[in-house]
Amino acid sequence: MVDSFNKFFKSLVESSGLNLSRDLNIDEVRYIISKINEYFFTNYEGIGFTNALGEKFEYFSEFHKFWEKYHCEVLNPQIDERKCEGIADILHDVYMKSNKAAFYDLYNTALLKPEEICKVRYFSANQDFRGSRDIVKLFKTYKDDPSIFDKYNINDNPEGFLKSIGVTSLSQNDKRVKYAKTASQILIDLNIEPFDLLVYFNYDIMQIREFLINSRGAGFGNKKTDMFLRDMVVLDVWKDAKNFHEVNVASDINTIKVALRTGILKTKIPLVSSFLDIFCYQYSLIDEMNALAWRKVWEIWHQKYPSECIESPCLIDYFVYRIIGKEFCQESLSIFECETKQHNFKWHSSRNRTCQVCYKNRVKNKAYVIKKVLPCTDCEGYLVIQNSKFVSGDNAVLPNIKECPFESVCKPKTSSFKKLNPPKSISILGQTGWETAKTRTVEGGGGLMA
Ligand SMILES: [Zn+2]
Ligand SMILES: [Zn+2]
Repeated sequence: MVDSFNKFFKSLVESSGLNLSRDLNIDEVRYIISKINEYFFTNYEGIGFTNALGEKFEYFSEFHKFWEKYHCEVLNPQIDERKCEGIADILHDVYMKSNKAAFYDLYNTALLKPEEICKVRYFSANQDFRGSRDIVKLFKTYKDDPSIFDKYNINDNPEGFLKSIGVTSLSQNDKRVKYAKTASQILIDLNIEPFDLLVYFNYDIMQIREFLINSRGAGFGNKKTDMFLRDMVVLDVWKDAKNFHEVNVASDINTIKVALRTGILKTKIPLVSSFLDIFCYQYSLIDEMNALAWRKVWEIWHQKYPSECIESPCLIDYFVYRIIGKEFCQESLSIFECETKQHNFKWHSSRNRTCQVCYKNRVKNKAYVIKKVLPCTDCEGYLVIQNSKFVSGDNAVLPNIKECPFESVCKPKTSSFKKLNPPKSISILGQTGWETAKTRTVEGGGGLMA
């Protein structure tokens, strides 16, 4: 691995004539800082171009060029099959004990017909509607006025459609309008409704997937497409669909986080900050490897217990994303200190304002959060787990558990456990994107302004 990194690093050590046996002097510090800035954050006439989003962009810096070529080799992500088997066994156990319910978030579809459910889901999935609560609301919107989801109406007035479904976020409005317009246009071109995609593509889920992802401008990225396809099969909208098992888990920061913390996916160094991951090379790589890691888990599970297994890796999503990722694997166990400073206590909610220790003795004192930790790393983590709606209450899918189901694989109470974080993505275009951060070496400055 030669390239520019070698040259950069050697220039720091050699060309500066550094004497490593004494402290640096200010001239040497200046030199090093300017060289680091030059290498990571500046470019020059003739540095060359890269491709992204189907366009050509001048490289941001020499490091950008290096990272494009070597990010995979540096991070070297690996799938740990032994850990995958551990997780597969746990998922099978959860599947049996919950009678499948932990994997199927069957929302109330308001008695809509399959064709109608499909239409609502098609035009909302590409706008990133994910939570079941939001989707149930949309089904009601459809009931109130089906014409809102008419492909011709959407095509004529995409802004009006977005308003009707309650999308008011101005930040991504241009993109959203384009998604609504294009998604309706591709149906008009084929002269079909969303429901007909199944027959049109010979009942093959993967053909539909390819078509949607390749329809540029329709907003169907991998994640949103997989979510849509999964819902159509799970909600029994599309019957007899082929190749459903080919659909991967909808990769996102929650499923990635759980993959890293359980160790089914490992990297040689902790993930780098998005400041270094120019143009999201790390993000895309980890995203892709995450889907493969969960697929490996599913393959092992399916092989060991063929008749006691979900039909596709994409069905792991609800359990890992919603229950583990958003509910259990969060720093939600709060450590409080009493305003008297006499004692601490742990509590499942950071919204509490009362000293619960004093309250037990009928004394009224305030308390403040001094720290938040993952429930699995603390011996009182059951406070959070037992208060989860997935554990207690009428619709609990994991009744009476006291710890996160993945504890035996993560081993969060041992010193080897690391609370690894998922990567963050950073945009190329726009005010906070790299394109506006560029500067020439000789000019100085550059970077982002919030
Ligand atoms: Zn107190
Ligand atoms: Zn944990």
